[in-house]
Amino acid sequence: MPLLEIENLSVNYGAIQAVRGLSLHVDEGEVVTLIGANGAGKTTTLRAVSRMIKPVAGSIRFGGRDITRIPTDEAVKLGIAQSPEGRQVLARQSVQDNLELGAYTRKSAADVRADIAKMYERFPRLGERRGQLAGTLSGGEQQMLAIARALMSRPKLLLLDEPSLGLAPIIVREIFTIIRELNDQGTTILLVEQNAKLAMNSSHRTYVLEAGQMTFNGNSAELVGDERVLHAYLGG
Ligand code: ATP
Repeated sequence: MPLLEIENLSVNYGAIQAVRGLSLHVDEGEVVTLIGANGAGKTTTLRAVSRMIKPVAGSIRFGGRDITRIPTDEAVKLGIAQSPEGRQVLARQSVQDNLELGAYTRKSAADVRADIAKMYERFPRLGERRGQLAGTLSGGEQQMLAIARALMSRPKLLLLDEPSLGLAPIIVREIFTIIRELNDQGTTILLVEQNAKLAMNSSHRTYVLEAGQMTFNGNSAELVGDERVLHAYLGG
């Protein structure tokens, strides 16, 4: 059964139609990638799912429930968390404060503390820097913090926007290893990634977006090397 089902989704910014009649689904346990050229509507799709932006048409279902119009914090409570593009950690707050803020919808302080300890095990570099202001972390460390912060809400579905952006290859490999581990441990992931090859090698299925519409999709393993993927980036 699909965990996430998007049907005929359209999102506008004023006169700009950023997403036009998009349908896709993500099954429980999958890693699904959205790829496409700049401005194709990938980030907008994630923001519609995390309820940060209002669609003009279409529906979004999560675990069988219609979430098209619920508020963002309700989506977090249901199990949807987004690690945004450009990381967007709270620069003037410490690593620890950022993680605590990621758990804002949770009630048990003891559980939150235990989960923060787990994050420090998974991301030892964050543990070493727990008192450091997030804005002074390196790019890779900020990306790890953004992912860890999203995980603090214990999401069923993790939305990852361009996790490799601006990072050195060795850090990118590290981040994608973590993505694979998270998925092995049961987190379903919808991933937006500019690096198409990396994304397809790290996901079960891929959707290709062009100008706000889905042009084709398939098993990632079958799409690697498909020249239509290249065309999507070259714009035709
Ligand atoms: P990229 O790979 O460059 O991040 P993307 O596929 O994630 O691109 P979106 O960020 O979803 O694309 O943008 C889709 C379209 O919507 C673009 O044409 C963009 O200029 C436009 N857009 C996005 N955000 C806004 C906004 N806040 N106001 C107006 N237009 C916007």
